[in-house]
Amino acid sequence: MSKKNVYTFGGGKAEGNTSMKALLGGKGANLAEMNQIGVPVPAGFTVTTEMCIAYGKEGKEKTFTSIKKEVETGIKHIEKIMNKKFNDPADPLLVSVRSGAAVSMPGMMDTVLNLGLNDQTVQGLAQKSGNERFAWDSYRRFIQMFGDVVMGIEAEGKEDIDPFEAAIQAAKDTKGVMQDTELDADDLKTLVKTYKKIVRDHTGRDFPTDPWEQLWDAIAAVFGSWDNERAHRYRELNNIPHDIGTAVNVQAMVYGNMGENSATGVAFTRDAATGENLFNGEYLINAQGEDVVAGVRTPQQITLEGSRRWVQLNNISEQERKAKYPSLEEMMPAAYKELRQIEEKLEKHYADMQDLEFTIQDGRLWLLQTRTGKRTGVAMLRIAMDMLSEGIIDEKTTLLRVEPNKLDELLHPVFDPEALAKATVLAKGLPASPGAASGKIVFFADEAEEWSARGEAVILVRIETSPEDVSGMNAARGILTARGGMTSHAAVVARGMGKCCISGAGTIKIDYKKRTMSMEGASFKEGDWISLNGNTGEVIEGKVATREPEMSGDFGKLMKLCDKYTRMYVRTNADTPEDSKRAREFGARGIGLCRTEHMFFEGDRIKAVREMILADDEAGRRKALKKLLPMQREDFEGLYRAMDGLPVTIRLLDPPLHEFVPHEEKNQQEMAKEMGISLSEVKQKVESLSEFNPMLGHRGCRLGNTYPEITEMQTRAIIEAALNVQAEGVDAQPEIMVPLIGKKEELVLQEKIIRETAAKVFEERKTSIPFLVGTMIEIPRAALTADEIAEVAEFFSFGTNDLTQMTFGYSRDDAGSFLGIYKDLGILENDPFQVLDQVGVGQLVEMGTRKGRSKNPKLKVGICGEHGGEPSSVKFCHQVGMDYVSCSPFRVPIARLAAAQAALEK
Ligand code: ADP
Ligand code: MG
Ligand code: MG
Repeated sequence: MSKKNVYTFGGGKAEGNTSMKALLGGKGANLAEMNQIGVPVPAGFTVTTEMCIAYGKEGKEKTFTSIKKEVETGIKHIEKIMNKKFNDPADPLLVSVRSGAAVSMPGMMDTVLNLGLNDQTVQGLAQKSGNERFAWDSYRRFIQMFGDVVMGIEAEGKEDIDPFEAAIQAAKDTKGVMQDTELDADDLKTLVKTYKKIVRDHTGRDFPTDPWEQLWDAIAAVFGSWDNERAHRYRELNNIPHDIGTAVNVQAMVYGNMGENSATGVAFTRDAATGENLFNGEYLINAQGEDVVAGVRTPQQITLEGSRRWVQLNNISEQERKAKYPSLEEMMPAAYKELRQIEEKLEKHYADMQDLEFTIQDGRLWLLQTRTGKRTGVAMLRIAMDMLSEGIIDEKTTLLRVEPNKLDELLHPVFDPEALAKATVLAKGLPASPGAASGKIVFFADEAEEWSARGEAVILVRIETSPEDVSGMNAARGILTARGGMTSHAAVVARGMGKCCISGAGTIKIDYKKRTMSMEGASFKEGDWISLNGNTGEVIEGKVATREPEMSGDFGKLMKLCDKYTRMYVRTNADTPEDSKRAREFGARGIGLCRTEHMFFEGDRIKAVREMILADDEAGRRKALKKLLPMQREDFEGLYRAMDGLPVTIRLLDPPLHEFVPHEEKNQQEMAKEMGISLSEVKQKVESLSEFNPMLGHRGCRLGNTYPEITEMQTRAIIEAALNVQAEGVDAQPEIMVPLIGKKEELVLQEKIIRETAAKVFEERKTSIPFLVGTMIEIPRAALTADEIAEVAEFFSFGTNDLTQMTFGYSRDDAGSFLGIYKDLGILENDPFQVLDQVGVGQLVEMGTRKGRSKNPKLKVGICGEHGGEPSSVKFCHQVGMDYVSCSPFRVPIARLAAAQAALEK
């Protein structure tokens, strides 16, 4: 037997079902399923996605030959159920031809309705229905849609309007009416003539009159549209494979344009924006297909409740509402009642919120589509939790249904959607850190601090940012950079702060001197208002109203549920008590990474740091470090208090010293004055610290091993702080982490200094506290020799930022120039600094964990790179058996959910 390429449905039976989405497309599979469960759906058939692939590979002729019989049988099937004949001049069967891939895909061919009409069949349709206007309305719609999507007739230029639209507008103008429904049969007959002329003028051929020719042309157009540029681009953007194809659905028409007792509409079983369990939707009387969405007329609300809410928003009186915008519930109570029953049935059956399309023909209800409804993050959470408590889904399904990344939307302030709809977008960059921010443009970090101290809301606009800018970034409402990727300094720091950030908005030109930022067609100066949409990467003109996100009790309930199923726990990367507290509220169970260097930039500290760097000998360094000690100690005390009862991993100094000295002459001069030395001496020192490749240079434990006094000071601060807060009754759990180990010996030396210093402090204080000594695994050699290193280390924390950098040999700060191109070329699937490269870098992580545990079964293993907050990477960490992941405070809930999902997906 030859392969089956066409699947029929109708009359309560179907050859397909919802599990066959890959073969029948989402639309086709669900049309079949609805038939199976007794929902009224017009009969039809689906040509498989495989035939679309064949069409692309083997061409039209061969493909059509192989499906010709089946399509003809399919039409017979519809004829039998509808008791009408295709191409019958007395009582014609008309069909719609609808595309439908496995994943919803705008950009594909649009639907053609009323196919099968010509000058003869339109007469039959008019006679049989006793409604001449309806017949000609259907005919003009058919020519327009077919002309549009099959024959490719479109507006000439971007500013012109579609010729068919122009023609119907002219007809309405001539008659002096506003609505399509006000055109009568004669007007429509004239319009059909005009439409046919448009077709002839644009294509040089007559509109095809043979229904079979129309049908095959339409099928070809659907298959052909799979390869059009729009569809291609959409798939690229959304990571949809190019080889899955689309199905074609051919389905008997039902008519919502048959008069005042007919209608068409779309509905949602729950509110897609808020998640409220409220059936809602819009409809139009005497209309067809997409009139509702296309905004041909103002659509009306389906439910009375929805209608009342709608008039309130639009400032319309109840009287006017009843007269002009009555609900379907009021207008067609019987059909409405049935729609409610079906809506409930479908939601229960699919156990998820559904998005429905329906048509009422002369009082009789038909369903034309059901699919899982798209929703906001807020709605996603609420619907999942509601459905759990309603008993529609179980705990496991609830957890798996919530998308970790979408939780992000719930944690940051949001723009008011109405204000956003009216906004002007100036430029687009990367949505580096989500959220919504409005403020005045400021170009310099110190000024951002000054302005914000005066109470101004500012957006820090930079070509790129550096560690010197951190406090300015902290003071700003949002950060915009013209350069840099998703893991640029600005992006990483902003995410850590939970601050809205757009990075790499390349069309923006920044002139620091003139203090202006410009893009095509517009220029802005310091002090002008702009807004950033960190969820989309859109830079918006002026001030857009925001509102606090609604953090309902559902959020807490979901997090509790995560804890019930997860194996791994989540820590946070935090350097301040405020961040630690916030992270703890989000459920962080400790600090996985405290970067001590961030603390060195604050206030007067940088002076002491610079003094240490400039010192010529150990004695000089020790003198400067002594000044830093009390400040560091105080920092750590704050962290321990915030994390009372939870572990706090503190990393010893990591960056090259060069990052702490000023590079601009103005600042160098200041420094010279402060230190009482000459500018040239400062310059010389700065010069001597500069390295060709600082990321591979004098940093990490190489600093601690060449200047042991730094490790000594930091250890002392860590231990003394712990003892101080212990005396207050705080349960401090320090974990000292040595960065950038490549050889076991490096750790051995550092550990010795740490343990000796701690012992000294214990001796001085006549008391002690338990602490751990461990290391980052971030150099490939460390992962390869993890078994040796684990003989010394009590814990491992995978620093996957550096590990990725060194495994790929991509400089994190320079990769922006080619990563995008590499993705386009298909060399890289993702930015490896965002999504852990499981195949390559992942091997090192897996091996490091396994080897480490082989020597030290008690070894605690975690991750503290950016990947610790990225869902697919978190799942990988679960699989290799890590104890915890650590991420920035605002990613903690996301990581918790991803960790729980990982435990369930196994
Ligand atoms: P899309 O994928 O863009 O939603 P559809 O194929 O669902 O396109 O169709 C567009 C519109 O036409 C929808 O409103 C749908 O309900 C309507 N429609 C499609 N087929 C028929 C039909 N056989 N009878 C009546 N309306 C139809
Ligand atoms: Mg459409
Ligand atoms: Mg649809």
